[in-house]
Amino acid sequence: MKAVLVEWRELAPNVRHFVFEVPEVRDFYFVPGQFVSMTHTIGGKEIVRPYSIASKPGGNRFELCLNEVDDGIFSPWLFTLKPGDEVETTAPLGYFILRNPQRDAVFVATGTGIAPMRSMLQSWLGQDDPRQLTLIFGVRYEHGLLYGSEFEELAKKHSNFTYIPTISRPEPSWTGRTGHVQEHLKEVVGDRRDMDIYICGLKAMVDDVRAMLKGMGFDRKQIIYEKYD
Ligand SMILES: Cc1cc2nc3c(=O)[nH]c(=O)nc-3n(C[C@H](O)[C@H](O)[C@H](O)COP(=O)(O)OP(=O)(O)OC[C@H]3O[C@@H](n4cnc5c(N)ncnc54)[C@H](O)[C@@H]3O)c2cc1C
Repeated sequence: MKAVLVEWRELAPNVRHFVFEVPEVRDFYFVPGQFVSMTHTIGGKEIVRPYSIASKPGGNRFELCLNEVDDGIFSPWLFTLKPGDEVETTAPLGYFILRNPQRDAVFVATGTGIAPMRSMLQSWLGQDDPRQLTLIFGVRYEHGLLYGSEFEELAKKHSNFTYIPTISRPEPSWTGRTGHVQEHLKEVVGDRRDMDIYICGLKAMVDDVRAMLKGMGFDRKQIIYEKYD
Protein backbone atom coordinates (compact mmCIF):
# COMPACT_ATOMS: atom_id res chain seq x y z
CA MET A 1 0.00 0.00 0.00
CA LYS A 2 0.97 3.64 -0.36
CA ALA A 3 1.82 5.83 2.63
CA VAL A 4 1.75 9.60 2.10
CA LEU A 5 3.99 11.83 4.19
CA VAL A 6 1.81 14.32 6.07
CA GLU A 7 4.52 16.18 8.01
CA TRP A 8 7.88 15.80 9.69
CA ARG A 9 9.81 17.60 12.44
CA GLU A 10 13.37 17.43 13.65
CA LEU A 11 13.85 15.70 17.01
CA ALA A 12 17.66 15.95 17.17
CA PRO A 13 20.50 16.35 14.65
CA ASN A 14 19.88 13.68 11.96
CA VAL A 15 16.77 12.35 13.67
CA ARG A 16 13.26 13.14 12.50
CA HIS A 17 9.70 12.33 13.51
CA PHE A 18 7.54 11.52 10.46
CA VAL A 19 3.75 11.35 10.24
CA PHE A 20 2.34 9.20 7.42
CA GLU A 21 -1.20 8.57 6.27
CA VAL A 22 -2.53 5.54 4.37
CA PRO A 23 -5.36 7.02 2.29
CA GLU A 24 -6.66 3.69 0.99
CA VAL A 25 -7.74 2.44 4.46
CA ARG A 26 -9.85 3.93 7.24
CA ASP A 27 -7.95 2.10 9.96
CA PHE A 28 -4.31 1.21 9.66
CA TYR A 29 -4.40 -1.64 12.17
CA PHE A 30 -1.25 -2.62 14.07
CA VAL A 31 -0.19 -3.92 17.46
CA PRO A 32 2.04 -1.48 19.40
CA GLY A 33 5.67 -2.53 18.83
CA GLN A 34 5.20 -3.67 15.21
CA PHE A 35 7.05 -2.28 12.19
CA VAL A 36 6.31 -1.47 8.54
CA SER A 37 8.64 -2.41 5.67
CA MET A 38 9.13 0.39 3.19
CA THR A 39 10.32 -0.04 -0.39
CA HIS A 40 11.79 2.23 -3.02
CA THR A 41 13.96 1.78 -6.09
CA ILE A 42 17.27 3.53 -5.54
CA GLY A 43 20.07 3.39 -8.13
CA GLY A 44 18.06 0.83 -10.14
CA LYS A 45 17.75 -1.54 -7.17
CA GLU A 46 14.68 -2.21 -5.11
CA ILE A 47 15.57 -1.47 -1.50
CA VAL A 48 13.44 -2.62 1.45
CA ARG A 49 13.90 -1.41 5.04
CA PRO A 50 11.80 -2.03 8.15
CA TYR A 51 10.83 0.82 10.51
CA SER A 52 9.15 0.49 13.92
CA ILE A 53 5.92 2.41 14.36
CA ALA A 54 6.37 5.08 17.03
CA SER A 55 2.71 6.01 17.57
CA LYS A 56 -0.30 4.29 19.10
CA PRO A 57 -2.92 2.74 16.82
CA GLY A 58 -5.87 4.85 15.72
CA GLY A 59 -7.18 6.02 12.35
CA ASN A 60 -5.16 5.70 9.16
CA ARG A 61 -2.03 7.49 10.33
CA PHE A 62 1.20 6.17 11.76
CA GLU A 63 4.38 7.85 12.96
CA LEU A 64 8.05 6.91 12.59
CA CYS A 65 11.22 8.02 14.33
CA LEU A 66 14.08 7.89 11.84
CA ASN A 67 17.78 8.28 12.03
CA GLU A 68 19.66 9.39 8.90
CA VAL A 69 22.54 6.92 8.65
CA ASP A 70 25.76 8.41 7.20
CA ASP A 71 26.51 6.56 3.95
CA GLY A 72 23.21 4.69 4.26
CA ILE A 73 21.06 3.90 1.21
CA PHE A 74 17.43 4.14 2.25
CA SER A 75 17.38 6.51 5.22
CA PRO A 76 19.01 9.44 3.32
CA TRP A 77 16.32 8.98 0.65
CA LEU A 78 13.57 9.09 3.31
CA PHE A 79 15.07 12.35 4.55
CA THR A 80 14.47 13.93 1.09
CA LEU A 81 10.70 13.33 1.33
CA LYS A 82 8.39 16.33 1.44
CA PRO A 83 4.77 16.42 2.64
CA GLY A 84 2.58 14.85 -0.04
CA ASP A 85 5.30 12.43 -1.23
CA GLU A 86 4.46 8.72 -1.31
CA VAL A 87 6.29 5.62 -0.07
CA GLU A 88 5.36 2.01 -0.77
CA THR A 89 4.86 0.14 2.51
CA THR A 90 3.72 -3.25 3.77
CA ALA A 91 1.04 -3.75 6.36
CA PRO A 92 2.49 -3.84 9.91
CA LEU A 93 4.52 -6.90 10.87
CA GLY A 94 6.54 -8.34 13.72
CA TYR A 95 6.39 -9.93 17.14
CA PHE A 96 8.05 -7.27 19.28
CA ILE A 97 4.81 -6.70 21.16
CA LEU A 98 3.71 -6.81 24.79
CA ARG A 99 3.51 -10.40 25.95
CA ASN A 100 2.39 -11.05 29.52
CA PRO A 101 -0.28 -8.52 30.37
CA GLN A 102 0.07 -9.19 34.08
CA ARG A 103 3.83 -8.83 34.43
CA ASP A 104 5.84 -5.78 35.37
CA ALA A 105 8.10 -4.80 32.50
CA VAL A 106 11.30 -2.88 31.86
CA PHE A 107 11.88 -1.28 28.44
CA VAL A 108 15.50 -0.77 27.44
CA ALA A 109 16.16 1.42 24.39
CA THR A 110 19.02 3.28 22.78
CA GLY A 111 18.72 5.86 19.99
CA THR A 112 15.80 5.37 17.62
CA GLY A 113 15.14 2.07 19.42
CA ILE A 114 12.80 4.27 21.44
CA ALA A 115 10.23 4.17 18.59
CA PRO A 116 8.36 0.94 19.47
CA MET A 117 8.60 1.75 23.18
CA ARG A 118 6.78 5.05 22.56
CA SER A 119 4.00 3.18 20.76
CA MET A 120 3.66 0.58 23.54
CA LEU A 121 3.77 3.10 26.39
CA GLN A 122 1.31 5.50 24.75
CA SER A 123 -1.04 2.58 24.21
CA TRP A 124 -0.76 0.77 27.51
CA LEU A 125 -0.41 3.52 30.09
CA GLY A 126 -3.70 4.85 31.39
CA GLN A 127 -5.65 1.68 30.74
CA ASP A 128 -6.15 0.99 34.43
CA ASP A 129 -3.12 -1.21 34.12
CA PRO A 130 -1.67 -2.44 37.42
CA ARG A 131 1.71 -3.26 35.87
CA GLN A 132 4.77 -1.31 36.84
CA LEU A 133 6.48 -0.15 33.63
CA THR A 134 9.99 1.31 33.58
CA LEU A 135 11.76 2.85 30.58
CA ILE A 136 15.55 3.03 30.56
CA PHE A 137 16.62 5.19 27.62
CA GLY A 138 20.31 5.52 26.78
CA VAL A 139 21.82 8.04 24.37
CA ARG A 140 25.22 9.64 23.90
CA TYR A 141 24.22 13.29 24.25
CA GLU A 142 21.42 15.05 26.08
CA HIS A 143 19.93 16.36 22.81
CA GLY A 144 19.46 12.72 21.76
CA LEU A 145 16.82 12.12 24.45
CA LEU A 146 14.06 11.77 21.86
CA TYR A 147 10.56 12.55 23.15
CA GLY A 148 12.10 13.30 26.58
CA SER A 149 9.44 15.78 27.68
CA GLU A 150 6.67 13.38 26.62
CA PHE A 151 8.09 10.60 28.79
CA GLU A 152 8.51 13.01 31.70
CA GLU A 153 4.85 14.00 31.35
CA LEU A 154 3.77 10.35 31.21
CA ALA A 155 5.75 9.63 34.37
CA LYS A 156 4.06 12.54 36.17
CA LYS A 157 0.64 11.38 35.06
CA HIS A 158 0.98 7.63 35.69
CA SER A 159 2.28 6.43 39.03
CA ASN A 160 3.01 2.99 37.51
CA PHE A 161 5.51 4.43 35.00
CA THR A 162 9.13 5.38 35.71
CA TYR A 163 11.34 7.11 33.14
CA ILE A 164 15.12 6.68 33.49
CA PRO A 165 17.17 8.59 30.89
CA THR A 166 20.94 8.06 30.86
CA ILE A 167 23.67 9.88 28.93
CA SER A 168 26.99 8.25 28.06
CA ARG A 169 28.77 11.49 27.04
CA PRO A 170 27.25 14.10 29.35
CA GLU A 171 27.95 17.82 29.42
CA PRO A 172 28.98 19.13 32.87
CA SER A 173 25.49 20.72 33.15
CA TRP A 174 23.75 17.28 33.04
CA THR A 175 22.72 16.27 36.55
CA GLY A 176 20.89 13.05 35.71
CA ARG A 177 22.15 9.51 35.29
CA THR A 178 25.20 8.78 33.20
CA GLY A 179 26.74 5.72 31.56
CA HIS A 180 25.19 2.87 29.64
CA VAL A 181 21.76 1.30 30.00
CA GLN A 182 23.21 -1.95 31.37
CA GLU A 183 24.27 -0.62 34.77
CA HIS A 184 20.90 1.07 35.35
CA LEU A 185 19.04 -2.05 34.31
CA LYS A 186 20.90 -4.05 36.97
CA GLU A 187 19.81 -1.55 39.59
CA VAL A 188 16.17 -1.47 38.43
CA VAL A 189 15.90 -5.26 38.34
CA GLY A 190 17.70 -5.86 41.65
CA ASP A 191 16.85 -9.35 42.95
CA ARG A 192 13.67 -9.65 40.94
CA ARG A 193 13.38 -12.25 38.21
CA ASP A 194 9.62 -11.98 37.67
CA MET A 195 9.67 -9.14 35.12
CA ASP A 196 9.76 -9.11 31.34
CA ILE A 197 12.49 -7.07 29.68
CA TYR A 198 11.93 -5.48 26.24
CA ILE A 199 15.07 -4.36 24.42
CA CYS A 200 15.39 -2.34 21.19
CA GLY A 201 18.32 -0.73 19.41
CA LEU A 202 21.48 -1.68 17.57
CA LYS A 203 22.81 -5.26 17.78
CA ALA A 204 25.80 -4.56 20.03
CA MET A 205 23.64 -3.17 22.84
CA VAL A 206 20.83 -5.72 22.43
CA ASP A 207 23.25 -8.68 22.48
CA ASP A 208 25.09 -7.29 25.48
CA VAL A 209 21.91 -6.73 27.51
CA ARG A 210 20.58 -10.18 26.60
CA ALA A 211 23.81 -11.85 27.69
CA MET A 212 23.76 -9.89 30.94
CA LEU A 213 20.15 -10.88 31.70
CA LYS A 214 20.80 -14.55 30.92
CA GLY A 215 23.78 -14.42 33.26
CA MET A 216 21.49 -12.98 35.94
CA GLY A 217 19.15 -15.98 35.58
CA PHE A 218 16.40 -14.57 33.35
CA ASP A 219 14.59 -17.09 31.17
CA ARG A 220 14.90 -16.32 27.46
CA LYS A 221 11.09 -16.05 27.20
CA GLN A 222 11.27 -13.04 29.50
CA ILE A 223 13.68 -11.25 27.15
CA ILE A 224 11.85 -9.79 24.15
CA TYR A 225 14.00 -7.88 21.69
CA GLU A 226 14.27 -6.12 18.33
CA LYS A 227 17.61 -5.52 16.63
CA TYR A 228 17.91 -2.72 14.07
CA ASP A 229 21.05 -4.10 12.35
C1 LIG B 1 12.60 -4.45 12.81
C2 LIG B 1 13.41 -3.19 12.51
C3 LIG B 1 12.90 -1.96 12.86
C4 LIG B 1 13.64 -0.79 12.61
N1 LIG B 1 13.13 0.40 13.01
C5 LIG B 1 13.84 1.53 12.81
C6 LIG B 1 13.34 2.79 13.30
O1 LIG B 1 12.25 2.88 13.90
N2 LIG B 1 14.10 3.90 13.06
C7 LIG B 1 15.31 3.84 12.39
O2 LIG B 1 15.93 4.91 12.23
N3 LIG B 1 15.80 2.66 11.97
C8 LIG B 1 15.09 1.52 12.14
N4 LIG B 1 15.57 0.32 11.66
C9 LIG B 1 16.81 0.32 10.83
C10 LIG B 1 16.40 0.52 9.35
O3 LIG B 1 15.67 -0.58 8.86
C11 LIG B 1 17.64 0.68 8.44
O4 LIG B 1 18.56 -0.33 8.72
C12 LIG B 1 18.30 2.04 8.61
O5 LIG B 1 17.39 3.08 8.22
C13 LIG B 1 19.56 2.11 7.74
O6 LIG B 1 19.20 1.89 6.41
P1 LIG B 1 20.07 2.52 5.24
O7 LIG B 1 19.66 1.89 3.96
O8 LIG B 1 20.03 4.03 5.29
O9 LIG B 1 21.53 2.12 5.65
P2 LIG B 1 22.38 0.85 5.14
O10 LIG B 1 23.04 1.17 3.87
O11 LIG B 1 21.53 -0.35 5.18
O12 LIG B 1 23.47 0.82 6.31
C14 LIG B 1 23.26 0.06 7.43
C15 LIG B 1 24.06 0.63 8.58
O13 LIG B 1 23.20 1.47 9.33
C16 LIG B 1 23.32 1.18 10.71
N5 LIG B 1 21.98 1.47 11.28
C17 LIG B 1 20.83 0.82 11.04
N6 LIG B 1 19.81 1.40 11.71
C18 LIG B 1 20.34 2.43 12.38
C19 LIG B 1 19.79 3.39 13.25
N7 LIG B 1 18.47 3.42 13.50
N8 LIG B 1 20.62 4.30 13.79
C20 LIG B 1 21.94 4.29 13.49
N9 LIG B 1 22.52 3.40 12.68
C21 LIG B 1 21.72 2.48 12.13
C22 LIG B 1 23.71 -0.26 10.77
O14 LIG B 1 24.48 -0.54 11.90
C23 LIG B 1 24.55 -0.43 9.52
O15 LIG B 1 25.89 -0.17 9.79
C24 LIG B 1 14.89 -0.86 11.95
C25 LIG B 1 15.39 -2.13 11.59
C26 LIG B 1 14.68 -3.27 11.89
C27 LIG B 1 15.28 -4.62 11.52
